[in-house]
Amino acid sequence: MPTAQILAIGTELLLGVITDTNTAYIARSLNQYGVDIFKTGTIGDNEARIAEEIRAILQESDILITTGGLGPTVDDPTRQAVARAFGVELDFYPELWEQIETRFRAYGRPPSENNKRQAYLPRGAQAIENPVGTAPAFAFWKEGKVVVSLPGVPSEMKTLLEDAVIPMLRERFKLAGITLSRTLRSAGMGESNVDELVSELEKLSNPTVGLAAHPGQVDIRITAKAPSRAEAEALIRPVEEQVRRMLGVKIYGADEDTLPAVLTKLTIDCDIHLDVLYTPALEEIVADVKTLPFVRSARVVPSTDENSLYNDVHDQDVLVLSAGERAGKRALDMSLRLGGKTLQDTRNFGGHPALYPLWVKNYIFSFIRESILNLKEKGELCKK
Ligand code: ATP
Repeated sequence: MPTAQILAIGTELLLGVITDTNTAYIARSLNQYGVDIFKTGTIGDNEARIAEEIRAILQESDILITTGGLGPTVDDPTRQAVARAFGVELDFYPELWEQIETRFRAYGRPPSENNKRQAYLPRGAQAIENPVGTAPAFAFWKEGKVVVSLPGVPSEMKTLLEDAVIPMLRERFKLAGITLSRTLRSAGMGESNVDELVSELEKLSNPTVGLAAHPGQVDIRITAKAPSRAEAEALIRPVEEQVRRMLGVKIYGADEDTLPAVLTKLTIDCDIHLDVLYTPALEEIVADVKTLPFVRSARVVPSTDENSLYNDVHDQDVLVLSAGERAGKRALDMSLRLGGKTLQDTRNFGGHPALYPLWVKNYIFSFIRESILNLKEKGELCKK
């Protein structure tokens, strides 16, 4: 298995002004194709330091992918740094210049003199055409090892990685097959309950099915190995359908989906706004819930026993939350009045105290989400 490192280039990344999302994406993609990710790093826009880092990395690994620093200005140092690392000059590539001019013509403006810099590559580099932007990427091979320099803009980086770099690496390093994962995300159900439902599937060997528990949420990860992406997807698909059938509404999304984002979208689609009433013990936890767009107001109440509580907010949609104790366990009582109907749920917490806030939040979110879906299915809500 070849090993790879990833180097994100840019002072803004180093200082935390922008968040590096490219590294995680590249690591996941390469790993799927059987490349071992050895180490990742971030470095500022300094040509000498980048060159030094490139040399050090290639002592340890077969593949280095860099992102960023391919723009047309002097502080875009990647081309020079790669040339310096290998002790070669930069050469003007007329065909790259033509591509850049063509791309600019398509955008309806002329390229600047600065853009000419982007047509220079380290001598001997293999150009990788960029059909989605102006910064050409390149690969520099030496003694069976390679540095691939990709643009920093995530959409450009992704296109070039998938369409050009991965096929090139698969061929040169004879990488056979792909390992593909699909993560289904469930909420509102404990790990042991999920485990019980999917236990037969956990015995499969290809794809494999594994669980990862978080407070109030469980991920179900389905992983297949196959010669091609299409074949891996075909192995995953029926198992995913089975898991979805077994867990039904408890599955709120897949892969990058998050529960607050999925819930927020649902409330926007259904035009739902909630007033939240909560007991003092939930103060800190509700501070996070309050920031979500569907929360119209939030107010602490001494207790939620009084029958008059709902009357306070007339006929608005209201979520009432109270934290208490039952049989020595922390309990969360949730009641939601939505479109004139009232739904209720109570949950007991038995985990580590440090996990309690996240557990509460996730149960609140999944309770609201399931209540909305329940009423929607009966045609009582979200009719559009
Ligand atoms: P371009 O010529 O298109 O600007 P570039 O290779 O010079 O490409 P940079 O200038 O380094 O890229 O970055 C351009 C933008 O791409 C940054 O402003 C940032 O928004 C985004 N970007 C760069 N690196 C990363 C990264 N590692 N993760 C996420 N976004 C990034």
